[in-house]
Amino acid sequence: MIELQNKRIKTFIKFVFFIFTLLSLILIYRMLFVSSKLTTTMANQQLGVIKTVYTRGIFLDRNGIKITGNVKSVENINYIDYINPAVAKCIVGDVKIDTKDTTTNSVKGVSGLNKAYNDILSASQYPFYIMGIRDARSNIVSSGSAFIKSASDPANTQITLTIDYNLQSEAEKLLQKYVDEKGYKNIALVLSDIKTGEILVLASKGSYLNSAVVSYQPGSVFKIITAGCALEAGLINLDTTFNCTGQITLDGKEKTVCKNGGHGKITLPKAFAVSCNSTFYAINKMLNITDEKGNIIGNMALNKMAELNIGTYKNPVKNSFILNYDYSYDFVTDKIYNQTGTFNAALGQGDIQLMPITVNKIMSAIAGNGIIKEPVLIKEINTLGLKQNLQQIQSEEKTIFSEKTCKDLQVLLRQVCVSGTASSAKTVNKYAAGKTGTAENVDNKSCHGWFTGYFPYDNPKYAMTVLIEEGKSSYNAVKIYNDMLDIILKYDKDIN
Ligand SMILES: [Zn+2]
Repeated sequence: MIELQNKRIKTFIKFVFFIFTLLSLILIYRMLFVSSKLTTTMANQQLGVIKTVYTRGIFLDRNGIKITGNVKSVENINYIDYINPAVAKCIVGDVKIDTKDTTTNSVKGVSGLNKAYNDILSASQYPFYIMGIRDARSNIVSSGSAFIKSASDPANTQITLTIDYNLQSEAEKLLQKYVDEKGYKNIALVLSDIKTGEILVLASKGSYLNSAVVSYQPGSVFKIITAGCALEAGLINLDTTFNCTGQITLDGKEKTVCKNGGHGKITLPKAFAVSCNSTFYAINKMLNITDEKGNIIGNMALNKMAELNIGTYKNPVKNSFILNYDYSYDFVTDKIYNQTGTFNAALGQGDIQLMPITVNKIMSAIAGNGIIKEPVLIKEINTLGLKQNLQQIQSEEKTIFSEKTCKDLQVLLRQVCVSGTASSAKTVNKYAAGKTGTAENVDNKSCHGWFTGYFPYDNPKYAMTVLIEEGKSSYNAVKIYNDMLDIILKYDKDIN
């Protein structure tokens, strides 16, 4: 019995050994003679990720044109690009992508509106992958196009901007042309609707910085505030005349402030139009506040800035605009101690720095007979089926100057374009009112060039501001303004 059992076990072991040997031989055969063929087939067709798509809420322009979320194509496969804006990169901002992270945190806004509205834009959106089969030459085997949409459809989240896609696009091309031709460091252009404060264009070209929300010395643009404060206080009127010898005395030192022996006897509108420095020093002296001993302890124009909450020196308003960087905000000194300080403040130099968007807000308020409209960039947020109209959330109305003062300033601003520093630009001359500015830079670099104004001068609709960082003079700022005004006239047939 035991012997028989042992025999059976031996037979079974022999059988198993035989099968094992046979399988091994087959395997060796395949490895030696077939495997090269298999490997080639596998290499010919490799399944892999062609593109990772990071889903996100999208941005639309004021008319519903997509700024992000446009269909793009990679190797004949269409997909929706939620990240790269077609225009307005300086507004939409950047995102940081963590390719190792496959959760909703894989994409995060790090600047611009992508940062400000990251929570809304990224809410429960996972990245997805466009897979494809490639041949040995890495070409995609599958032909035609696959339109891939995320299951959670981030297009349901939409942020509608106040920006006008077409005008933004035109402005960006225009600024880029000037940057390429002249090699400017930065150019900013802000266009807004005077009645609503809505920003239609906010363009910046040159460096990666959005120069529309970076502060620069405003130069003679600040004469608008100086003149406005003196008019408001009844210290001057449109008939006041001044005498410009071209020379002034600052703290015992003679200084030449107007060329060729000065402007002589000059009226306020003329002095404003030609930007006479000696006149504005005289006006700012009137605005100084002194103690009983005659020491300068303050200045009405600087107090006006503080009253309007525009960057006080000691306590600057950080992040006052949605796109601001931590280190960029309006910056206005709150003290003047001597004649040199008075002169610098009158000319918007020294410790006064304003962002182009703030200068534009000031211009818009004057064109609107005093009413300050805070700049608005978001029109509507549509998320999870909820519509939030942000136009309704406007803070209480503030005024910059009385209607009478604004009307007087409008006369002065128009003169600049009729017979003053901006009169050589044809379309500006015909339609606009505004003020040029050339601001001395802090570190003795080239001056910044400014032009800020509104149009049409007789029925104000738009406020627009151009800044050229180290633009040397205001000449090209006026030129860019004129070019952009020509473009706007093509789009807005109501002006004429
Ligand atoms: Zn002068």
